[in-house]
Amino acid sequence: MGKEEVNAASRKDNGRYTLNIGKIQEGFVLDHIKAGKAMKIYYSLGLDRLDCAVAIIKNAHSRAMGRKDILKVECDINSLNLDVLAFIDRNITVNVIKNNEIVEKKQLPLPKKMTNVIRCHNPRCITSVERGLPQVFYLADEQKGTYRCQYCDEKYEESDGDQL
Ligand SMILES: [Zn+2]
Repeated sequence: MGKEEVNAASRKDNGRYTLNIGKIQEGFVLDHIKAGKAMKIYYSLGLDRLDCAVAIIKNAHSRAMGRKDILKVECDINSLNLDVLAFIDRNITVNVIKNNEIVEKKQLPLPKKMTNVIRCHNPRCITSVERGLPQVFYLADEQKGTYRCQYCDEKYEESDGDQL
């Protein structure tokens, strides 16, 4: 690691067409995103509501994954909460950029608590009755990555679908 440049990922594919997005002064490069998930992450991080510069690279070549997505975000690194990333995909690599260099590679732990990320599907849950309540889930089993509704303990299943 060390003085790796931001666009190292795209430069690895010698001889192929590469997308070269300019260097980031300060921000994050989210690498090894499962192909097709970049937009989901874009919205989950609230990037549509922020006015930072964002580059979304879809279907980049990856030796390990075949295809992957990459998200580059130029922003104050303290202004963006990345907690939800690990929930969406634990394999995402987070490169923290400062002064044009990778200063840290982060492994994100699963968030202990998530507010308004997923929805409780129990029809008897108070959040189904009172629409104004925030959807709060807590990490019930770190090993399995199980989340339960804070109000009714209903388990969240991947098949329940999606983000709010
Ligand atoms: Zn519930």
